[in-house]
This record gives sequence, C-alpha cells and structure tokens, in this order.
Amino acid sequence: MRNDELLALDRAHVWHPYGPMPGRAEPLVVASASGVRLRLAEPAHGQDELIDGMSSWWSAIHGYNHPVLNEAARGQLDRMSHVMFGGLTHEPAVRLAARLVEITPGPLQHVFLSDSGSVSVEVAAKMCLQYWRSVGRPAKQRLLTWRGGYHGDTWQPMSVCDPEGGMHELWSGVLPRQLFVDAPPAAYEESYAQLLREAVARHADELAAVIVEPVVQGAGGMRFHAPEYLRVLREACDEHGVLLVFDEIATGFGRTGTLFAADAAGVAPDVMCVGKALTGGYLSMAATLCTSEVADGISRGEVPVLAHGPTFMGNPLASSVACASIDLLLSQDWQTEVKRIEGGLREGLEPARTLPGVRDVRVLGAIGVVQLDHDIDMAAATAAAVREGVWLRPFRDLIYTMPPFVTGDADVARICAAVRAAAAAG
Ligand code: PLP
Repeated sequence: MRNDELLALDRAHVWHPYGPMPGRAEPLVVASASGVRLRLAEPAHGQDELIDGMSSWWSAIHGYNHPVLNEAARGQLDRMSHVMFGGLTHEPAVRLAARLVEITPGPLQHVFLSDSGSVSVEVAAKMCLQYWRSVGRPAKQRLLTWRGGYHGDTWQPMSVCDPEGGMHELWSGVLPRQLFVDAPPAAYEESYAQLLREAVARHADELAAVIVEPVVQGAGGMRFHAPEYLRVLREACDEHGVLLVFDEIATGFGRTGTLFAADAAGVAPDVMCVGKALTGGYLSMAATLCTSEVADGISRGEVPVLAHGPTFMGNPLASSVACASIDLLLSQDWQTEVKRIEGGLREGLEPARTLPGVRDVRVLGAIGVVQLDHDIDMAAATAAAVREGVWLRPFRDLIYTMPPFVTGDADVARICAAVRAAAAAG
C-alpha cells in the first residue's frame, strides 16, 4: 500500500492511544524493526530509520526481531498458536507460571495469566477485594495509593491513577472512590513515611489493599522514589491487616537495575503484576501473582473461585516467547548492560540541566528523564528527536527514554542528543 493511502485510511478508521477520531496527527509508518532500529516506510525529517528510545513503551528489552524470540514464536506456532484455557492446559503456560514463581519473591506462588497490564491490575484488585469478602471482612473493599500513579486504562486501574489532572480525570465522578496520599518524595523522609503509616492505620477497616508502582512512577509523571517507602508500606500493611500490591508492569525484568524494582527494598508484596517486558515486547501478555494466603482465602469463600477468565488467557505463543525472553535475559549479564546504559544516560543527559526551561534531569537504571518547567509542544519535540534519528514520545512536561538493554554506547549517546534536542525544541 502506498504511504499516503495508508495514512488516509489510518486517519479515517484507526484509533490511536489517547487519539481523536478522525485522526489529526501524522503517525510515522514503521515498515519493519530490527535490533534497536525502527525502519520507516518513508523517510521522515531526512531519516529512514530511527533508534527506538522507548522500547515500545518499556517492553522491547531485547530489541526487535531477536533470533531467540523469533525461534520461540516460530516453534510454538507450528505446534499450537492458541487454545482455550478453561478445562485445558499446556506446557508453555505451565512452564511460564513456574518460571515466574521461581524469579519473583518467595511468597508469590500462584499465577493468573492475562492479556494486558490493565487487566492484570483488574485481576489484582479483584483478588484483594474477593479475599476480604471470603474471609468475612466484606467492608474492606477500597484501595489506597499515592498520587501521581498510573496503573492502566480499564475501570479499577483508572480508579487508582492520579485523580487530579491525570489521564482519567474525565471519569473521576463515576470511578470507584479510592484513597490517595501525596506522591512519594525522591529521597527518604521520615515525615512522609509517617504519613503512609497513618493513612494505612486510619483506613484499615475499609482498605482491601495498598497498590503502588515500586520505585518508579511511570506514565503518571516519571518520578523516582526511595525504595525504603516500600518497606514502610509492608510493615504498615502487616500491622493493620491490609494487602500490598506491587505493580511492576513497567519496572519488571531489569529496567531499574534489579530484576524487579521492589528487590531494591527486599520486600515481597501479597500480589504483584507484571506485563510489558514479560514477552520482550513481542506479544500481549501480563500476569498477576499472589501468595498462598490470598489464594487460600479466596478458596474458603462462598464463591470459592476467582471469577475471571479472558479468552486469550495463557496464550501458548505469548507464554513460549515469555519463557524464552526470561531465559534470554537471565542468561546474560544484564545488570552490567543496564549499568552501562545508566552511565551513558547520566553522561548524556546531565548537560540538559543548563538548557532554558529544564527543571530536572534524573536517571535510574535504563531510564532517563528530562523534566521541563512547562508543557511540551509534543509535535515540535518529537520532530526534533526524529531529526536526530531517534524515536521518543514526550508527554506533558516530560521527555524521557527507556532504551532496549541491547542499545550500544554510540546509540545511547545519540538518544541523549535527541532528548536534549527535544528539550530545546519543546
Ligand atoms: N501499570 C503500569 C505501571 C503501566 O506503566 C502500565 C502501562 O503503561 C499499565 C499498568 C497498563 O498496562 P497495559 O498498557 O498493558 O494495559
């Protein structure tokens, strides 16, 4: 199809994330992708390929078109691409569940495989609410979180996203009414830890769970915070009988420098969500893990089952690729690679501090953020990055990157140059 025909059809018929209909933007058409590069169907701003500074929203940690992941997909495709999971099971899903139990904190023993991060958060919320109903505490049905979070676009996840000025403000009047405390400060402050303890204690009678993104708040503002707050939450939840949910959908599988972000605090949650990089960004899959206490509690209830069962639950193709992606990650010295990228991002982004309008520069693991003191002109900032041969997706006052772990030093330097150019243009 010619590029202009494709774009006309795209504008007329295809809804893009957070986009209007008919479409107004001119999305770039990607013809193929390999390693860390996206090949464009037609050159844009003089570039026919772009280094992906976004890992397709945190997911493509091994880059694109990886021979190991291709082989896993191909091998499984020849056996069975999908089969319903009700009443049937298969090796790829069982192997994946066992592998997830092995690599996540010890108390997490049971795995619900779903098809997107948002659904895995829905499932996490359902697990927690149902647990308390099942053990005879039906008043404990609310969730507490900190402001500035993002947990997805379906109903329960939207209710725990930032309620003020966040992406789901439109729905604030009709979503389940959850409880919020201020977003955590970057460094440990005892006064904030105390605020967390008090909030959990005060609301314990109505709280099913506390849900947070550990260490990095992603799409809600790209903020980092001290891991110690997770320990504070664990202690407060234990003391007051509240479940603790970690949403590791963005941070999981090495992004922050530890396999899971909460590993930095040495704290295990009762329920944990993973997604995005679970399949190395190849296929849509997420998982919700829980402890035996949560699963046993649900099993003791009047309705002793978790009433959730997506059509594509445990998809064999996605499960096979997820197993291959985890094995690939753990077979390498991935910590050294993430540290190397962290060093490159620090070196390359630090100079942005002196640019006019730059409020903050922060780097953690393979994540780099430049925050401006104003909302970005998204089109101008994106075009500036593309001119540098890099794909970035700035939003609000943030220009950020989370490159694949296989991004070489020269490409990390180019990504940083593009972030600086975007900051100057936006
Ligand atoms: N939770 C976190 C922390 C996320 O970053 C995201 C996506 O950006 C989600 C949940 C939702 O995942 P999905 O987009 O796969 O539904």
